[in-house]
Amino acid sequence: MRKNYKRTINFSPGPASLPKSVLERIHLELFDFNCSGLSVMELSHRSDYIQSIISDAELSLRRLYDIDDSTHIAFVQGGGSQQFALLPMNFSKKRDKVDYIDTGYWSQKAIAEAKFLGRNVAVIASSKDTNYSNIPNIENILPRPNTKYLHICTNNTIYGTQWHNIPTVSCPLVADMSSDFASREFDINRFGFIYAHAQKNIGIAGVTVLLAREEMLNNICNDLPAIFNYKTHFEYKSNYQTPPCFAIYVTWLVLNWIETKIGGLSKLGDINEEKSKRLYNYIDSSEMYSNQVNKDYRSKVNVIFSLRNTKLESEFINQAKKNNIIGIQGHRSLGGLRASLYNGVTKDDVKKLIEFMNDFAKKNL
Ligand code: PMP
Repeated sequence: MRKNYKRTINFSPGPASLPKSVLERIHLELFDFNCSGLSVMELSHRSDYIQSIISDAELSLRRLYDIDDSTHIAFVQGGGSQQFALLPMNFSKKRDKVDYIDTGYWSQKAIAEAKFLGRNVAVIASSKDTNYSNIPNIENILPRPNTKYLHICTNNTIYGTQWHNIPTVSCPLVADMSSDFASREFDINRFGFIYAHAQKNIGIAGVTVLLAREEMLNNICNDLPAIFNYKTHFEYKSNYQTPPCFAIYVTWLVLNWIETKIGGLSKLGDINEEKSKRLYNYIDSSEMYSNQVNKDYRSKVNVIFSLRNTKLESEFINQAKKNNIIGIQGHRSLGGLRASLYNGVTKDDVKKLIEFMNDFAKKNL
């Protein structure tokens, strides 16, 4: 390994920081994976090497979330946005009822695709009236009779809100977990279908994890091209087309890291909770910064904040960069600032961010 390499502290909303030990292992195995004499990038997707990476990643996920055989798992190409369209295509037909909860930017994108496909879409709850600073009250969530599913986005990357309680509903619950999957524990059995891209908490861009309960697959529309049909990817064990082997490999390493180095999702959830708590506590106690998100719904992985004097924003970002801190600009649709504290961000990284923020406050108040 090169001795004097630089590591920048990265609070980017994704692609995001990876655990150091995962990067080290990738480095170590880059030219010769498991005595194959080849890199993972060069190995055939039909080789035993890649097949066992895929099945080990699946097994690791099953252990972490205690997932039994009634839930199917697949690792597919592409990102979260692709699922916004594939989900209604698979689980409903034109004019079928499909229900959504609008908690901001990404849920709106999902809603737009279902509408485009001619589904009978109802937004049965929304936090638009509070500028997405909360999550709708779960007691008021009543899907329409005969709706094919209810879609939620469990963590709202841009608005910094998160579902801490999952509603119990009378129809299949489906979720975009792209920004908080494997960052905490949750009861997998509450969901009929889950999708989560990897580039925030469990790896790099190029792969999306799909989890589907058996009964959901029984209802899939069969008039879809095989490549768009979810069943194909579960049946072929993520190997119908050439899978994104390297991306799955990185996900496998991150899942291993969660199991062996962290000690599971409960411990990881505690670590993520502690990181976010420290930052929120600092922001709430400061005269320089503020966070407008309802405290009951604050995200543990995306902490949005603003400077009370917004004119100092670009100076803040520039100074952060000089202090080796990047990725803290808010989403272009919302502005402000945001620190994403995904799995690869350490407690020490958060400590350094707070020290920098404190220093900046002292100089500019
Ligand atoms: N869902 C959520 C919650 C996201 O945060 C994002 C992107 N940050 C997406 C979906 C879109 O994912 P992709 O860029 O992989 O299409």
